[in-house]
Amino acid sequence: MMRTVDALLSQGRVIEPPSAFREWAWIRDERLYEEAARDPEAFWGRVAEEFVHWFRPWERVFEWTPPRPGTSPPWFRWFIGARLNVCYNCVDRHAQTWRRTKAAIIWEGEPGEERVLTYQDLHREVQKFANVLKSLGVRRGDRVTIYLPMIPELPIAMLACARLGAIHSVVFGGFSAEALRDRINDSGSRVLITAEGGWRRGQIVPLKRNADEALAECPGVEHVVVVHRGVMDATHVPMREGRDHWWHRLMEHASLQCPCEEMESEDPLYILYTSGTTGKPKGQLHVQGGYLVSVAATQKWIFDLRDEDIYWCTADIGWVTGHSYIVYGPLCNGATTVMYEGAPDYPDRDRWWALIEKYRISILYTAPTAIRSFMKWGEEYPRRHDLSSLRLLGTVGEPINPEAWLWYWEHIGGRRCPVVDTWWQTETGCILISPLPGVTPLKPGSAARPLPGIFADVVDEEGRSCPPEVPGYLVLTRPWPALSRTIWGDPERYVQVYWTRFPGIYFTGDAAVKDADGYFWLLGRVDDVINVAGHRLSTMELESVLVEHPAVAEAAVIGRSDEVKGQVPVAFITIREGIPTTTELGEELKGYVVTRIGALARPAAVFFTAELPKTRSGKIMRRLLRDIAEGRVLGDTTTLADPTVVQRLKEMYEERYGEGS
Ligand code: ATP
Ligand code: MG
Repeated sequence: MMRTVDALLSQGRVIEPPSAFREWAWIRDERLYEEAARDPEAFWGRVAEEFVHWFRPWERVFEWTPPRPGTSPPWFRWFIGARLNVCYNCVDRHAQTWRRTKAAIIWEGEPGEERVLTYQDLHREVQKFANVLKSLGVRRGDRVTIYLPMIPELPIAMLACARLGAIHSVVFGGFSAEALRDRINDSGSRVLITAEGGWRRGQIVPLKRNADEALAECPGVEHVVVVHRGVMDATHVPMREGRDHWWHRLMEHASLQCPCEEMESEDPLYILYTSGTTGKPKGQLHVQGGYLVSVAATQKWIFDLRDEDIYWCTADIGWVTGHSYIVYGPLCNGATTVMYEGAPDYPDRDRWWALIEKYRISILYTAPTAIRSFMKWGEEYPRRHDLSSLRLLGTVGEPINPEAWLWYWEHIGGRRCPVVDTWWQTETGCILISPLPGVTPLKPGSAARPLPGIFADVVDEEGRSCPPEVPGYLVLTRPWPALSRTIWGDPERYVQVYWTRFPGIYFTGDAAVKDADGYFWLLGRVDDVINVAGHRLSTMELESVLVEHPAVAEAAVIGRSDEVKGQVPVAFITIREGIPTTTELGEELKGYVVTRIGALARPAAVFFTAELPKTRSGKIMRRLLRDIAEGRVLGDTTTLADPTVVQRLKEMYEERYGEGS
């Protein structure tokens, strides 16, 4: 892989932070990095004081014994003995200042309704809903599953749980009844919060119907609270007497005041399941204190967040990005956070750009999959709108290929807005590797350096640090405050997945390479590194090259077993609108890879497809493409956005190449 990684690294483009941005940024120099390197514990202690209001201070900042098989949690703890309330930090303390009249949440529904909640509004709604939960018997430590569309009731419900010390488990509203059932039962929830439905691309998402189907096999659920989103008449929604309650009815009688529980720093805050890109989703357990500290601090440092910003993260709150950087991070900082319910291409492909123009959004945080869709649709859509309010752009979720990075920088940011490529995971709770926009020269395609207080490295099979430009495994050598404490109900799996490969070191499952400047380049999952005749190739790098070809919109490359070479690359390609898919184009693309990387990397097959199989969080599921190319039965498909895509692809592939060829 050493040789071929050059195609990424040798691009050599460096973009200095725009001086107008640098001048005003919160962080303009290296001091934060230096402070953290000198004494990480003292650093996190200082940060915890700056960002969070504590009811009681800690006795010790940090303590750990590296997790080992057969031992039980907690393996490490942060801010030991301290007490806080996350909801108090995100709502109450702002409602006591001038911010009470500031917009906390700006919401737009897909059909175009608008709602703005000030911090005072949020304070009222959260207290009332916390009282509703109390009246249903919810206490500290109880689990509450939330299955809602992107509407303000979703953060209200999360914050109400946090206020009472109940553990929320948010299940993405696009998930099926089956996925919901498994998550309710795994978490042992007694209460479910849902809505009769939501909007997605003009269609109704039948949440209550899915919930009813799921609940047929969830004996532990005693109460269901149903928000009337307004997608259908309330009389058309079957409500089970005694179990189902309308949100608005319960709220009518709820009293206005509800005190905050004083929680221990290490008490659980929520459970959240990973995306399922590499296998069965894992229920990560995040805690109160450490999580909030890291999320609040990274939100301000990386997004340079200010009171006057209108900040929009386009993720769904059903993913960790939404938990940390739509709800807890922005609100803990007293910011204005935007929520949009629907699809980016409804009613037209310029909906996002219309939202940015309308609300004068200044910070946009999204995913490479979305950026590649916009590239495929063409520049004309963003060009229809005034995007001059934007000052910072961010991306997360997958490695971003330099081509998409540059498109985003140019066509959305007008070469004016730094682009922060943020690497992290559901497990990590907060961003770990990212530029700081006023400090870090940007290299398109690289997530730059580990943040202050984060100790990352790239290591070989034996856990030894790799020299620059030698790819290996991305690891973290010390716990940081927001790292998940365990997998809910399965502490052994937690130790086995993250802590066994290199004892005492957190194993991310991702491959990476550091360059001579100490910048990290993410190469995808460890499984996405393939071995062609003894040479290690990163499939991400092949994809990156393919996407630079003017005809290609998106590419997924996997390794197929080969008797002679061990593995050979196979490329699955989606083409830009209006370009015909011909055999000649396939050959041209193979040749393109050869010129850019070398003969070794020549794809054995190029397969055109209208769509790639993706998780509901928008990530390409390469493991299913591997199953197709190797003629295997498809693995777990429960977290796919559209299961028919992979089924169609499998049939087409087998028709063309024969089974298992
Ligand atoms: P599962 O763990 O269930 O297989 P998942 O890993 O996709 O699913 P998430 O926690 O949503 O679940 O995703 C984290 C992963 O996403 C990271 O391990 C990494 O592979 C990828 N990722 C996230 N952000 C970036 C980024 N900026 N650059 C490269 N990869 C990223
Ligand atoms: Mg993962």
